Amino acid sequence: MTTRNETLFERARQRIPAGVNSPVRAFRAVGGTPPFFERASGPHLWDADGKRYIDYVGSWGPMVLGHTHPQVVEAVQAAAARALSFGAPTESEIELAEAICRLMPSVEMVRLVSSGTEATMSAIRLARGHTGRNLIVKFEGCYHGHADSLLVKAGSGALTFGNPSSAGVPPEIAALTLVLDFNNIDQIEKTFAARGPEIACVIVEPVAGNMNLVLPAPGFLDSLRENCSRHGAVLILDEVMTGFRVALGGAQARYGIKPDLTTLGKVIGGGLPVGAFGGKREIMEKIAPLGPVYQAGTLSGNPVAVAAGLATLKLLDTPGFQEKISGVADALIQGLKNEAQKAGVVFSAQSVGSMFGLYFRAVPPTSFAEVMQCDKDRFNKFFHTMLERGVYLAPSAYEAGFVSATHGTTEIDATLAAAREAFKA
Ligand SMILES: *Cc1c(COP(=O)(O)O)cnc(C)c1O
Repeated sequence: MTTRNETLFERARQRIPAGVNSPVRAFRAVGGTPPFFERASGPHLWDADGKRYIDYVGSWGPMVLGHTHPQVVEAVQAAAARALSFGAPTESEIELAEAICRLMPSVEMVRLVSSGTEATMSAIRLARGHTGRNLIVKFEGCYHGHADSLLVKAGSGALTFGNPSSAGVPPEIAALTLVLDFNNIDQIEKTFAARGPEIACVIVEPVAGNMNLVLPAPGFLDSLRENCSRHGAVLILDEVMTGFRVALGGAQARYGIKPDLTTLGKVIGGGLPVGAFGGKREIMEKIAPLGPVYQAGTLSGNPVAVAAGLATLKLLDTPGFQEKISGVADALIQGLKNEAQKAGVVFSAQSVGSMFGLYFRAVPPTSFAEVMQCDKDRFNKFFHTMLERGVYLAPSAYEAGFVSATHGTTEIDATLAAAREAFKA
């Protein structure tokens, strides 16, 4: 019998490439038919066949409060009733900017955009405009959205120029991006020693969440801060995923690193399209129309999207919120480790704040190369058994997972019961 999900997937593929508007949604890594979702509430999703799932994707990060939080929905409805868009300044944009600056003191000024990609792309242009330099440094396995300069992978050997990781990115553009190994401090020192005066910026996910979950090794982020300061390069922490997730003040608060610029997205839109980049006043004043670095957006600071973001940040900023949600993530990964051990499966897991990583590997990876050593086939089997049993994990072994403030003991117990079966699969 054909399910409604299958019918929709077939229909979607007629008019939308692979049937999806962002590649990972097509389930290519794990195979099978992606559920088409119809509604969500708290920790739950319902698909087109009426099946309920416990959600550990959270729209890839934004849904930290859980789905359809009544106060967020109310704020969005009220804003929508007033106006959908002005393309002109509003008071709520100031409030969101003030909230971001208060929660992240390294951000002295901030500009709102509509996606994480726009935020990183603009921050890089700003860093180049500010320093008058062209080279940028990124790390293998970190994802910063799909701008040309950032779709670059390591060339052969350290300190060589990057190669495009997508067709359509000119090699001349990729050549301006140096790609280093996450957590390799020695390589950072050597790169700055060799190319320091040419480097405009270093961009990094302070906790890597786009190659599963990899924590920064002790000294790694400090070494970036120190080298950028010594060589006059701009340090950009890409907190699109980690912002308001790994701590109220982001990874920069958790690890005590003060970046020059920060990029944000996901949680600051509460599920609607908002991104932001901000940082040192001296650098932010180089943005048009104050300065020579051009950047703009028709829907930037959209009042409905900003209302969702503001309501979300307000609810996050309550005593005990981060501790509670971190506790949930911790209980989940401890439980999963127990089940794996009982089943005799080689498995490890870790969490930071409300983000977690699951690895079919004896210990959590510390580099991109180690992430690649995880047993992908074992993950795919685990994924499908969990999905069948109503647990929605990211459909790839290379994505971080997320819990929300609405996940509790009931959801964890149900997840562990499913995992008991899935580890046997
Ligand atoms: C999701 C993500 C982006 C891109 O954000 P979009 O809103 O998808 O464009 C950039 N950086 C990081 C760290 C992300 O996780």
